[in-house]
This record gives sequence, C-alpha cells and structure tokens, in this order.
Amino acid sequence: MQSIVELHQVSFSYNGAPVLEDVSLHFHPGQFAALVGPSGAGKTTLLKLILGTLTPIQGQVQITSRAQNGTKAPRIGYVPQLETVDWNFPVTVEQVVWMGRVKRAGPWPWPSADDRRRIATVLEQLEIADLARQHIRNLSGGQQQRVFLARALIAEPDLLVLDEPTTGVDMRTAENVLHLLGELNRQGMTILMTTHDLNAAAAHVPWVVCLNRHVIAQGPPEEIFTEPILNATYEGDMLVIHQDGMIFVQQRPHGHGYRDLLPEPVLGGIPRHDEISRSK
Ligand code: ADP
Repeated sequence: MQSIVELHQVSFSYNGAPVLEDVSLHFHPGQFAALVGPSGAGKTTLLKLILGTLTPIQGQVQITSRAQNGTKAPRIGYVPQLETVDWNFPVTVEQVVWMGRVKRAGPWPWPSADDRRRIATVLEQLEIADLARQHIRNLSGGQQQRVFLARALIAEPDLLVLDEPTTGVDMRTAENVLHLLGELNRQGMTILMTTHDLNAAAAHVPWVVCLNRHVIAQGPPEEIFTEPILNATYEGDMLVIHQDGMIFVQQRPHGHGYRDLLPEPVLGGIPRHDEISRSK
C-alpha cells in the first residue's frame, strides 16, 4: 500500500546537538499511530518535520495525498498542544473553526453558505454545536481540545496530526478524546499523535512508535510495551503489568518503595514487585 507519510533517514538539530538521527518511518492511509518517548525525545520536532514547519538537515520527508494523480496537494490537519495556545486572543468557537477553512475559502473574507453548513456539521459531530458563540478561553480543557480538533477536521485533511491531545485535560476527558479519535479513524481518517500517556496509548492506539532520538521500536502496543523496549526508550526502570487483557505501564519507583513504610502484618497480602508477573 502507498504510504501517506514517509521519512527516509531523517536527521535534525536546532543548534548542533542532534535531536533526531537517522529516523526512517512510514505510515499508510487509515493508520492510527502514537509516537511515545520521554520529554525531549524529539516527538514534537518529528511532527513539525511532517508538517513542514521544520526541514531536515539530512534525509527526506514525503507526504502523499489520497489523489493518485498528484494534482491535489496533501492536506494535514494539526491540533496543537493546548499549552502552546495564546488564550488572550478573543475569538469564539465558530471563528476558531472557520480559521481552519480559510485556506479553502473563496475570494471573500467571510464564510460561504457551504462553509457555514460544513462548520455546523463538524461542530455537531464533535458535540460542541451549543458552544459555537462562546469564547474559547471560557471552555473546559476537553471542550477546547474538541474546538481545535474541529478546526483541523473542517479542512478535510488527508492526515490528522495531534501533539499531546491528552495533556492538560482530566482522565475522563482524555478517554473521551481518544475514543473520538478511534471513531474518526474507523471512518477512515489517518491519525498520528504524540502522547506521554502510555496506558492510554496501550488501550486506544493500534500502532506505537517508541522514539528517543532514534526509532527504538514500533508495532502494536501488546508487542512493543515490554520492559526491555520501554527501558531502552525511557532510559529508566519501567514496570509492565498485563491484567485482564489490558496493559499497564508504570515507572518503577526509585530507592525504597511503599512496603518499607508499612508494618509487617499489613504486608502479608501485598505482592512484591518481583512477584508481579513480568511482561515478555
Ligand atoms: P518532545 O516533544 O519529545 O518532548 P521536542 O521535539 O520538543 O521533544 O524537543 C527535542 C529536543 O529539542 C529537546 O532537547 C528540546 O529542548 C530541543 N528543542 C525543541 N525546540 C527547540 C527550539 N526551538 N530551539 C532549540 N532547541 C529546541
């Protein structure tokens, strides 16, 4: 199958020290993938190379649109990290979403009837239609996340790229956002996101790329979330627990654990780390 995104031996640095080295990856249309790795691993930099806001110092990044004849430029919808948004900018939900459509609009600086219909449809789809006239800074983190998702979707992208969509929202909202992304993916959308939340990735994302300057490993979470791979990615001591068909990942605490704080009789029923079944 033809790839939608291809990186060939890509390297990048901001000021001399390499941030990404010899990264080769490809994603196919309809794929839903997460980039995971520690802070500073180069995840956001990799997204910016795909978005074209940064250029590799070595290697190539290729984006191919769905149109086979090459006449249609590929479109990428981008959902930024909420933390990077300037919330002092006084705009309503409707206006933010319209910004996502502007590049595709006609010669007039206002939405056409067709654009208005499309905006209304996307707001309905994301269940934020009743917030259309609200100022974005008055919304909850989860609602803001949906607004930026709507802004990306309104442009009918070939590829949806999200930077940490579960950061800055509570656990339930994170769960809802990932569920929504799963639904969009089932409808055919190709999705690439970064996340620091390994447990959410394990539960919701079918393909994971472990990155720390290099690609350490990639594959389905049940194959990739093993202690050797995660230790290599995070340069730390990771604990992986398989229970009831689910995967839980936790950084192993340093030094003394909670057991050392408990009196002996309490300890009877609590398994030690080395008694908990290890991953493959
Ligand atoms: P991640 O998203 O995995 O946390 P980033 O891609 O944001 O990692 O950053 C990778 C490395 O590049 C970090 O060491 C970071 O400090 C550095 N970096 C990121 N942006 C810049 C920049 N604009 N100028 C200089 N260094 C940067």
